[in-house]
Amino acid sequence: MSFTLHGMAVSPGIAIGYAHLVSHATLEVSHFVIPARHIDAEIARFDAAVETVRVELDTLRNTTAAAPAEIAAFVDLHAMILADPLLSSVPRDLIRSRRCNAEWALVQQMEQLVEQFEGVEDTYLRERKADVVQVAERVLRALLGRPGHLPARRAVEYGTVVVAHDLSPADTIQFRQQHVSGFITDLGGATSHTAIVARSLKIPALVGMHHARQIINDDDLLIVDGTLGVLIVDPDQRVLDEYRLRKSELELERNKLKRLVSARSATLDGVEVSLQANIELPEDVGQAREVDAAGVGLYRTEFLFLNREDLPDEEEQFEAYRSVAQAMGGRPVTSRTLDIGADKALLGDDDNSPNPALGLRAIRYCLAEPDLFLTQLRALLRAAHYGDVRMLIPMLAHAREVDEALNLLARAKAQLHERRVKFNADMQVGGMIEIPAAALAVGLFLRRLDFLSIGTNDLIQYTLAIDRTDDNVAHLYDPLHPGVLRLIAHTIDAGGRAGVPVAVCGEMAGNPAMTRLLLGMGLRQFSMPPGRLLEVKQGVLRSDCSRLRPAVVRMLRQDEPEKLLEHLDKLNA
Ligand code: PEP
Ligand code: MG
Repeated sequence: MSFTLHGMAVSPGIAIGYAHLVSHATLEVSHFVIPARHIDAEIARFDAAVETVRVELDTLRNTTAAAPAEIAAFVDLHAMILADPLLSSVPRDLIRSRRCNAEWALVQQMEQLVEQFEGVEDTYLRERKADVVQVAERVLRALLGRPGHLPARRAVEYGTVVVAHDLSPADTIQFRQQHVSGFITDLGGATSHTAIVARSLKIPALVGMHHARQIINDDDLLIVDGTLGVLIVDPDQRVLDEYRLRKSELELERNKLKRLVSARSATLDGVEVSLQANIELPEDVGQAREVDAAGVGLYRTEFLFLNREDLPDEEEQFEAYRSVAQAMGGRPVTSRTLDIGADKALLGDDDNSPNPALGLRAIRYCLAEPDLFLTQLRALLRAAHYGDVRMLIPMLAHAREVDEALNLLARAKAQLHERRVKFNADMQVGGMIEIPAAALAVGLFLRRLDFLSIGTNDLIQYTLAIDRTDDNVAHLYDPLHPGVLRLIAHTIDAGGRAGVPVAVCGEMAGNPAMTRLLLGMGLRQFSMPPGRLLEVKQGVLRSDCSRLRPAVVRMLRQDEPEKLLEHLDKLNA
């Protein structure tokens, strides 16, 4: 039966695909002791589940015969893990000797194996841990009477929509390899890093769906409308046809925008506007180049540190930063130093702080871990020898944070000097204005740094005191709050007066509805997900700064929300 659910649209576009429920099955299994007389039956139940999965994998291998070699290799690997007595036989012994139920026996053995993998030095082998977990989860689903998900032929026709209770940015970035067409989550906010990654991967997504995961089944056909915030479950043919049409229209519109790639980025009255790209991983540079971004205005380097047990060493970081710098061919690459903490935790870093968004995050974390920070600083300084790499310090609130970071930078330079390694001693250093106190006392930062970049996502979170990942307060997230607008305008003005460049790299910069407002505030440098750049460029090309300036000055005198909206509508008319 077809039905519709509503959520928060966080990544535009339309995805049509079959539901793939992501569950942490291991957390859901019950643990109990079975009576001795049931041991044989429990073992038979376990064997039957293993056999079900074996058949599933066989079917999968046959239906994906024409699929890329990696899929076949992945199916073979899972079949091999399943056949290994460590997974298919040891749990039987545990059922017999400890009389635990089959699910519990399997989870115990899986945990044991995972622990052994963690101790392995070889990175490839260590990463196979995830495969063991996936195979065990497949068997668990079979035990629980839920057959594992089969990306069968029809899924190839439409793709896969991931349905999860919650996803971390680290989970989401992996969708790049997994050809996920869309996703929905029960939790989440519009500017959570999970949503940001979705936009960067151009995957339509809805968050804040509340109980969607409980009412959607594996393999239900779903339409995700990431623009209107609508999810249609099991659509009838007419709706499906309508959405297929809308999807191709959207693709057509996107293609039309490509005409603007080579247009000079300037307003009607000739004001040049630098439109740059936000990236998460070196692979994203391709997208930035495709839209002819004037540079990378925000490289979120922390993504190199996620989804792994070890930390990238100086060499690995240097290679990544250099590859981005070289791929951008001399255009600026603003590389943000590690913004770890809150929703982007390192594996194994259990953040027990009562309020992680207000805790040891970003520059606070780096100053508390000087060796980790020094390694990154050395890698950035070395990469800056090969291109226009600039460093950007996140989450500044105190002058002394800049002073300490600059001291460590001087130490990193001395270390490289001693090692006689090539580096750029004149690498520019900038800071992010994303805490209200930093915006109000912006002079402290203008005096110490070469440039500033306003992170509106966090600036809004901290100004309005709402956790950007919490869907319960997502409705209070308001870029047009007069307090937020004044902080942004003040920072841009102060930078202009001091002759220090100020950019905006938060999601506001990529929202075409905000382009004229920001231009009118005097902003001349925007950084955004590459997928938004051409739409914003279209706005720039149609704007006249001489007309916008006085209109925005008038707008900023208002503080009633309706009046502000009226002014914005007039600006955009
Ligand atoms: C921001 O806070 O606006 C920003 C650009 O940084 P991030 O979204 O990575 O926190
Ligand atoms: Mg931020």
